[in-house]
Amino acid sequence: MWFRVNFVFILEREDQTAAIRGRTLHKSHSLNSVVASSNKVNLLDFDRQGLRDFFTQIGEKPYRAEQVMKWIYHDLEDNFENMTDVGKALRAKLTEACYIGAPKTLLDKVATDGTHKWLLGMDSGNAIETVYIPEPTRGTLCVSSQIGCALNCQFCSTGAQGFNRNLSTAEIIGQVWVAAKYLGNVTHQNRRITNVVMMGMGEPLANFDNVLKAMKLMRDDLGFGLASKRVTLSTAGLVPLIDQLSDAIDVSLAVSLHAANDELRTELMPINKRYPIAELLAACQRWVARKPRTSITFEYTLMKGVNDQPEHARQLIKLMRKLPTCKVNLIPFNPFPGTQFARSDAAAIHDFQSQLLNAGVLTMLRRTRGDDIDAACGQLAGQVADRTRRSAELRKRQNQGALHAL
Ligand code: SF4
Repeated sequence: MWFRVNFVFILEREDQTAAIRGRTLHKSHSLNSVVASSNKVNLLDFDRQGLRDFFTQIGEKPYRAEQVMKWIYHDLEDNFENMTDVGKALRAKLTEACYIGAPKTLLDKVATDGTHKWLLGMDSGNAIETVYIPEPTRGTLCVSSQIGCALNCQFCSTGAQGFNRNLSTAEIIGQVWVAAKYLGNVTHQNRRITNVVMMGMGEPLANFDNVLKAMKLMRDDLGFGLASKRVTLSTAGLVPLIDQLSDAIDVSLAVSLHAANDELRTELMPINKRYPIAELLAACQRWVARKPRTSITFEYTLMKGVNDQPEHARQLIKLMRKLPTCKVNLIPFNPFPGTQFARSDAAAIHDFQSQLLNAGVLTMLRRTRGDDIDAACGQLAGQVADRTRRSAELRKRQNQGALHAL
């Protein structure tokens, strides 16, 4: 059986590391005092430095942390007893104090095109989604960063569900761990997951600290060991945090643009009111100046009659002239129940792409994947009951739609 995920949940705390740091543990504290004053600690909540600090706090040499880290991420091991090069006494100590707890799988679905989607259970009946997209030369895992999302982009199924809470580091890196375990990923050898994109549910920059630690684990040689260009964070445009991210870690950046004029973008993405396009592009220019070898991808979802007309393409071309090394990723809209938008016609998509290419803008067209398993962000989780007001409004709209159809 592939499935050996440890079904342990963190119910009370969003960030165990903060809780542990806040408690200021000292080397002299006995293990029992650590355990007595807290529940067991989930080791997936630590990046390498955090794990070294934790081992120091429980009276162990920091290099032992790296030994255990290798077991967790290279061997996908969640049972301390199987860590054969770790001494018996330390194994017993770790079993008493910690656990390795990835999220629980509620559902896994495989589409006819090989796209794989897991619905992972969280506390209070919530769920998040992780999607794996296999292609001939790579396998991309799309990871969530929040339960729901507060940014309320009008074309987004997750946005329609409202915001519930940030995911912990363990819940973010745990998605990669679960998928790797399922897929039989072999780190550094026959990888199945070659790329990770923070493009699932939520705005990753709004959960900065936990996302940063999880991305460090994706990049770390003792973690999943992925190169900087293979770990991508996608943002709707939280401008100050784009600058903060570029100082903190080397990863790739994608920006959800979806409209090239402020009026339309604010309508589609309310965050644009706070950080309009000019500010967003200036942040992107700073990113490129600091990381000259990287390129930013601008995501542009094509919605019928909304943002897919020749004048929209012209506006986009004008913007892209400010960032000539960057590229545009066109995404045909993936409809979800209750949405007011529709996918652009094939001819409109083709014409839009041609217009950009003819103007010299590097433009890719993303194939829609996993249509038969609701693989667009938030669609599957949207089928799990949640209690947000926005969700209730969406259900009301859906019911009204159903009544009108009678
Ligand atoms: S598109 Fe991204 S940022 Fe916007 S509502 Fe959806 S999840 Fe949030």
